[in-house]
Amino acid sequence: MSAIDSLPPLREVIARHELSARKALGQNFILDLNLTARIARLAGDLAGVDVLEVGPGPGGLTRGLLAMGARRVLAVEKDPRCLPALAEIAAAYPGRLEVLHADALAIDPLAYLNPPIRIVANLPYNVGTELLVRWLTPPIWPPVWQSLTLMFQREVAERIVAKPGSEAYGRLALLAQWRSDARIVLSLPPEAFTPPPKVHSAVVHLTALAAPRFAADPAVLNRVVAAAFNQRRKMLRSALRGIAPDIESVLVAAGIAPTARAEEIGLEQFCALARLLKG
Ligand code: SAM
Repeated sequence: MSAIDSLPPLREVIARHELSARKALGQNFILDLNLTARIARLAGDLAGVDVLEVGPGPGGLTRGLLAMGARRVLAVEKDPRCLPALAEIAAAYPGRLEVLHADALAIDPLAYLNPPIRIVANLPYNVGTELLVRWLTPPIWPPVWQSLTLMFQREVAERIVAKPGSEAYGRLALLAQWRSDARIVLSLPPEAFTPPPKVHSAVVHLTALAAPRFAADPAVLNRVVAAAFNQRRKMLRSALRGIAPDIESVLVAAGIAPTARAEEIGLEQFCALARLLKG
């Protein structure tokens, strides 16, 4: 019996269902149910909330989310070998867990849920970053989700929360911080996973803001930030040359020194630049 529910320990579940970890699916499982319950708590109050979990695997985090009181969990898993183990959890929590056998990148799982919605995932890192960008760029803002609680490789987590002037600061930081509050809430060593990955990991919690911190057209802001960081070592007057005919005076009007480099410029100034360029 585990600490959080009456289901068997995860090692037993994995052995019984022969869920040897597959590298191609980025399978590094968390087997400590106290740790998965802790991650579920970091997602915030789950009472009355629909939770989307991507990549449940053998279900450690899923069990944490259900034990922490989620109204309903939709778990999207690509590996069919995990489905019988997840069905056992569904049986222990009648009507609260739905499992979808799918590639999360190929569907829109949010369409299956009702607000309020929180998203929680321990995913392969490349899939996590792609989904993060999708969830941060919906057609309308605020998005349908309230918060994202996602495990990343530590270096990616640092890029999400980075501030101007640091090596890690770039497109991901600006995208995340423009319309959400992003914080690293937990750091984990490789040994927290089975098998252990090569790198350290961190959980990032992002809360959607009701409105962007500074007004800007999303497409223009994205274009400016992409151009600025594609040549991050160059002065902005060169890096942004192709963006507008007289970029130097637009930079000055936005309060930015044309000789500055992208990594020195904060969100507010990038938004001011995007507004002038839109005009
Ligand atoms: N959540 C479990 C845990 O914390 O122990 C498993 C985490 S493991 C790092 C990632 C899980 O995501 C695996 O179960 C893997 O099969 C699944 N997965 C990988 N790519 C996926 C995709 N594109 N869509 C849905 N699930 C995926």
